[in-house]
Amino acid sequence: MLTDLHVHLRKDAPNTPASEAFTTANVDRYREVAEDRGISELGVSEHIYRFRQALSVWEHSFWRAEAKDDLDDYVGFLREDTDLRVGIEADFIVGREDRLANLIDQHDLDYVVGSVHFLGDQAVDHDGYDIWETNAHRPDEVWRRYFETLGEAARTGLFDILAHPDLVKVWGPHRPRPDGDLRRFYDRAMDGIAETRPAIEVSTAGLRKPVGELYPATAFLEMCLEAGCPVALSSDAHEPRHVGYGYERALEVIDSLGVRELAVFEGRERRLEPIG
Ligand SMILES: [Zn+2]
Ligand SMILES: [Zn+2]
Repeated sequence: MLTDLHVHLRKDAPNTPASEAFTTANVDRYREVAEDRGISELGVSEHIYRFRQALSVWEHSFWRAEAKDDLDDYVGFLREDTDLRVGIEADFIVGREDRLANLIDQHDLDYVVGSVHFLGDQAVDHDGYDIWETNAHRPDEVWRRYFETLGEAARTGLFDILAHPDLVKVWGPHRPRPDGDLRRFYDRAMDGIAETRPAIEVSTAGLRKPVGELYPATAFLEMCLEAGCPVALSSDAHEPRHVGYGYERALEVIDSLGVRELAVFEGRERRLEPIG
């Protein structure tokens, strides 16, 4: 069995209405690619900030610009018209834990994918709100904050899966990067991760980004496995052709670390299924 639990039916491009993304015809396009690549467990985790209801959690200008869809319609469509697992990709915003917990609890989800995209008002992966604009001379400081925030996200217990765990590296050579052994940064997240042991996403999205690597780095993944976290395997596809993208590479790495099972979710309950 293979999984892809971090999939977006919506493209990132502007002016792509929900009415085009959330249709059975569009879902069929994703299912077809998944079947070709041997992926039976397919789940969608749309960005929470795409939904109007997310403005009850945070009102960042990026969220205000993006919050167009209705979360109830999204969950209803997936539950009633498809056989997909129902997830959501929720940003961890420091200080907004209770508001996020309320919003999550109101919806019938199979799992919640937790992401750290923002540190304060600045993003690690969005050049419109680029954290590196004011921190280009402080790579150690940015990485330290990123991994501390990731650890805090895990500690809340709000997230079933930690998405793209070392996203801060996304720009690769186009942004500063700390020198030396990066485990000193990963360490900052480990107390929180060890406390709740969420599934750690092995994401092939990084292979398609400037960094050209899997998320997370193998050394970080090893630390999470040692802490007792299972693996959630996903592509973070935003279009059908990226479902299961680069899985050969991901499977090679997790196999070399002795991982033989993948996390799957139903009604926010986790179980492990053998990789096959
Ligand atoms: Zn993300
Ligand atoms: Zn995503």
